Amino acid sequence: MKALVLGDAGGLELRERPMPSARAAADLVVLRILQTGVCGTDRGVLVGKFHAEPGVIMGHESIGVVHEVGSAVSGLRPGDRVVVNPTLYCGRCPNCVRGELNFCQHKAGNEIGIDRDGGFAEYLAIEERFLYRLPPELPDDRAVLIEPLACVLNNLDAARLTPGSRVTVLGAGPIGIVAAMAAAHFGCPVTVLERDEFRRSRAAEVLKGFSPEPEVLATGTPTARSEVVLDTVGSLLEQACDLAADLGTVVIMGFHAEATVQLRPLHILQRGLRIVGAGDYNSLIFPRAIELAARMPLERLVTHRFALDEYEQALRCVGVTATDYSALKVTIEGRLSSPVDA
Ligand SMILES: [Zn+2]
Ligand SMILES: [Zn+2]
Repeated sequence: MKALVLGDAGGLELRERPMPSARAAADLVVLRILQTGVCGTDRGVLVGKFHAEPGVIMGHESIGVVHEVGSAVSGLRPGDRVVVNPTLYCGRCPNCVRGELNFCQHKAGNEIGIDRDGGFAEYLAIEERFLYRLPPELPDDRAVLIEPLACVLNNLDAARLTPGSRVTVLGAGPIGIVAAMAAAHFGCPVTVLERDEFRRSRAAEVLKGFSPEPEVLATGTPTARSEVVLDTVGSLLEQACDLAADLGTVVIMGFHAEATVQLRPLHILQRGLRIVGAGDYNSLIFPRAIELAARMPLERLVTHRFALDEYEQALRCVGVTATDYSALKVTIEGRLSSPVDA
């Protein structure tokens, strides 16, 4: 099969890889990939801001159709459409046994698309327990955003968001926009701050018609402080604290391995701020994300869809090989643009 692999030089390469087989383990499911979203984390890897294993097949926001099942798979059959939870867990360590699956002690080396083969490929083999069946009425372009929505839900949970809380979202990338959409869905007035003009205008379009309708601005003022501030960029903690109301909560959402900040602990103490890192989502959040997706027009975010061999265009769109953004959510389908005869 064809797959997009992280090369030794740090870029993506289209390579031939052996077709995975469900005979390798009894609980394995082989999926034919429908679509895999290109995530900010993928961009981070490809511009050198986040580590992934050279040689790994990248991509972790995948949906697919069950192609083959191992002998012990009981809940899925060939033809079922599923979404992948890429954050694997062992199920047996002390944290897993307590239900804290997202803090599994054996998580290292187990992140799909980072250090274990992922979804930028024609097929993917993964254990049954990391797959969730999709309702038939959910379109592919919406379902491919369930993984980002799961991530958003996890962070809104961590913020202890209550209906009506004023929310500021820093960054109008796909995660920022999904966060704004979800917070508005929960009845919160939302302000999105984004410096890039293209992203700002696209975010405003996508969020149009929501009630209350989120506002999208270039900069925020501390006069309109929010109860909850989400930093989807991952390097804006100082600004996030400035924009938080007294007793407010700041959630660090964006993955940024190099960012450092300077904060004055006394200000945090005196203003009663809560700074939260929510970690990855717990696998058990997926059923909730699937239910919520039925009521959210997430497909509005998908601006581009490419085949595996069109990956260079995809990378240009997400700002890996170009300096400007020209897309919101870009997805890569698990096929070649013009199938060749074997
Ligand atoms: Zn992601
Ligand atoms: Zn574990």
